[in-house]
Amino acid sequence: MTFSVRSCLFMKQEEMVWDLSQLVASTDPADVQRSLEEMVAEAEKLRGVYHGKIGSLDTKHLLELLECRDTYTLRFEGAVKYCSLMYSADSTNDIAKQLYGAARTAVTKSEKLLAFVDIEVGKLLAEKPSLATDPMLAEYKHYLEKLLRKVPHMLSENEEQLIIVKDKNGIKAWETLQSDWLSTRVFEIEIKGEKKTMTYGEIIGLFQNPDRELREKANQIVYEGLGKDEIVWASALRSVCDDHMQMCKMRKYPSPMTQSLIDNDIDKQAVDSLLNTVLKNVRLYHRYLTLKARLMGLKKLANYDIRAPLPSAPETEYQWEAARKEVTEAYGEFDGEIGGWIEEMYTRRHIDGKVRKGKTSGAFCASWLSGKSAYILQSFNKRMGDLYTQAHELGHAVHDYLASRAQKPSNCEVGSCIAEVGSIFGELLLTEKLLSQAKTREEKQAILAMILDEFGIVTFQVSARVFFEQSLYNTIEQGQFLDGETVAELWVAARDKIYGDSVTWLEVMKWEWTMKPHYYMANYRFYNYPYVFAQLFVFALYKLYKEQGKAFVPKLKNLLAAGSSKSPRTLAIEVGFDIADEKFWEKGMKQTEEFINMLEETM
Ligand SMILES: [Zn+2]
Repeated sequence: MTFSVRSCLFMKQEEMVWDLSQLVASTDPADVQRSLEEMVAEAEKLRGVYHGKIGSLDTKHLLELLECRDTYTLRFEGAVKYCSLMYSADSTNDIAKQLYGAARTAVTKSEKLLAFVDIEVGKLLAEKPSLATDPMLAEYKHYLEKLLRKVPHMLSENEEQLIIVKDKNGIKAWETLQSDWLSTRVFEIEIKGEKKTMTYGEIIGLFQNPDRELREKANQIVYEGLGKDEIVWASALRSVCDDHMQMCKMRKYPSPMTQSLIDNDIDKQAVDSLLNTVLKNVRLYHRYLTLKARLMGLKKLANYDIRAPLPSAPETEYQWEAARKEVTEAYGEFDGEIGGWIEEMYTRRHIDGKVRKGKTSGAFCASWLSGKSAYILQSFNKRMGDLYTQAHELGHAVHDYLASRAQKPSNCEVGSCIAEVGSIFGELLLTEKLLSQAKTREEKQAILAMILDEFGIVTFQVSARVFFEQSLYNTIEQGQFLDGETVAELWVAARDKIYGDSVTWLEVMKWEWTMKPHYYMANYRFYNYPYVFAQLFVFALYKLYKEQGKAFVPKLKNLLAAGSSKSPRTLAIEVGFDIADEKFWEKGMKQTEEFINMLEETM
C-alpha cells in the first residue's frame, strides 16, 4: 500500500518532466553534434546545386527545389529542437549549454547558406508572376504569393548586406541599449516597514499584488524612476522610428505600416475595420471596468487596478492530475480527435511543468513538425492562471497537430494574426468548463474576471498602442521633434482614446511607453494590431461555435489545418465572414457582452 502511493507520486513527478529523447535517434551528445554538422554540410550541398541558378529553373525543377528544402527542414528539425528545448528546461546543465551553443551556430550557418533561395525565387517570380498560380506548384501557391508581395520592396544584394552590417551598430544598438538600461535600473521600495532594493524585473511582480496600496506605490516608484531617464528612451525610440521612415522611402513602402501588413499577410482594410470596431465599443469595455470597480468595492478603478486580482477570488489550488483532467475534458468535449491529441501530449510526456532552477520563465509551445506533434514548457504552480496557461499552450499544440498533418513545412510558419487562434479558443473552452462546474458566486466572478481582464487588455489597451505607434510616425512626418515630453503626450492621447475617464491614472503613467521593449525592436514595427486581431477573431469564432454547435467543429479544424497556406482573409471567408467587414468583428464584441452580462448576473 505504502509502496503504491510512493510509486504513484513518483509517476506524477515524472509525468511533469518532458521526454525529449523522441526528438532524436540517439541522445548521445556526440551523435547530436554530428547531426548538426550534417545539417550545415547539407545546406552547403543545396547551395552548391542551386545558388545563382534559380532564375533559369523551369516549374518542375522549382518544385523540386522547394520540396528539397522542406525535406531538409524536417530532417534536422528534431536535433535542433532537442538542443534548444533541453537548454530552456535547464540552462545550468553543462551538456545543454554546449549543445545549445552548437545548435545556434549550426542554425545561423545554415540560414546564411540558404538565404539565397527566397531572394532568387523572388526574382524569378518577379519575371514570371504566373508561376504563383501554376497548378504544378499548387501546394506552394500562397507561399509564392507572399514572396511576390515582398519582391517590389527588396533592394539589391549589396544594399541588403550593407543594411545588415549598419543595423548591427545602428538600430539594433538602440534596441540593446533600451533593454540593458531597463534591466539594470534599481528601485527602492518599502514593504511592510522593510526597505528593499529591487530590479525592474522584481518590482513589476508587485503590480498584481492583492495589496492595493502596494500596487500604487510600486507603479509610482517605477514610472517616476523611468521618467527620469526620458532622454535615453526618447533618443532610442526616435532613432528606431526615424530609421524606419527612411527605410520605408528606400524600399518604396507607401506607408509605415505596409511592411507589417505584408509580414502579417493582411490588408489595411481589415486592420481599419478591426480598429474601428474597437473604437465603437470602448463603452462596452468601460462597462466591464465599472463592474470590476464595484467588485473591488471602489467607485472607480485606478490604473493599478485594471489587472489586479479580485479581492474575493478563492485561492483554489489545482494539482497536476486535476489540471490534466479539466484541460483534456474541455478539449475532448469540443472534439474527440482533438481530445485524443491532448491526452497524448500528457501520456507521451511532451509537457514540462516541473518548477526548477535554470528553467526559462514564462511558457511556450514548440512545434515538432516531423513528429506531427509539439512540446510545451511551463512552470506549473497550481494556480488558476497556470491551468489557463496549460490550456493556452495546448491550443498551440492542437494547431501543430493539424497543420503538420495537412501541410508542407513551408506552409507551417503561421503569422501572428492566426497563430493564437487555437490557443485562445482553448482558453474559452476551459472557461466554459470551469464556469459549468463553479459552485460559488466568487468562483464564477474570478473566472469571468480572468477572461475579461485579458480580453480588455489585449483588445482595447493594445489598440491604444497601435494608435500611439501611428501618431509617432505622423509626428515625424510633420517634421516635429520627438523628445520625451512629446512622446508622453502622444501616449496619453492614445490611451485616453480607449479609456476616456473610466479609469484614474497616476500622473507618472505618461512614461508607460518607456519600458515596452517592442517599440524599440529593430525592424519590428506595428507589432500590436495582430494581438488585437487574434483576440477579437477568436471571440467571434467562439460566438459562431455557440450559434452553430457541432457543425462549427470541422470549420475550426480546417482553419487550423491550413497553417499558412491561406491568408487570414481567405480563412475567414471559408468560415463565412469577411474580416474587412465590421460585422464580423462585432460578433466578437457580442461574445464579450455575453461574458459581461454573465458577470453582472452574479452581482
Ligand atoms: Zn500563445
